[in-house]
Amino acid sequence: MSDECTFCQILKGESPASLTYEDDSIVAFMDIQPITHGHMLVVPRQHAVLMSEVDETVAMRSLRIARQLASLVRRTLGARGVNLFVADGEVAFQDVPHFHVHVIPRYPNDGFGLTFPKAYSQPPSRAELDTIASAIRGAQQA
Ligand SMILES: [Zn+2]
Repeated sequence: MSDECTFCQILKGESPASLTYEDDSIVAFMDIQPITHGHMLVVPRQHAVLMSEVDETVAMRSLRIARQLASLVRRTLGARGVNLFVADGEVAFQDVPHFHVHVIPRYPNDGFGLTFPKAYSQPPSRAELDTIASAIRGAQQA
């Protein structure tokens, strides 16, 4: 646990949270600044900043719980879809330095969207894709 971590303070009971799920390794609670109605965060009790630093079993359990909560928001809140979102690193919009999975219920015209870079309209060639894929495959064998 980290003394300055907002989520660790919640896990220690030092800050309030509206819980939606709790077990030995995982807690889920309502986001205090929800993007949409019912936006929740699934948070391992173990403090780790990045996804790669979380124990693999705990990380997979986080995703399992997020999947269950995604089904529940469809049933209980009438969500028509759900986005699961991991902001892994500051450049990826990680705002709290404690790994978590966002469960974002989606509704028609809810105003949440994605912005794509200009390059999106000019997809790379097959040769470029093959080069990138080769680098990633190569790193797995190393
Ligand atoms: Zn923490």
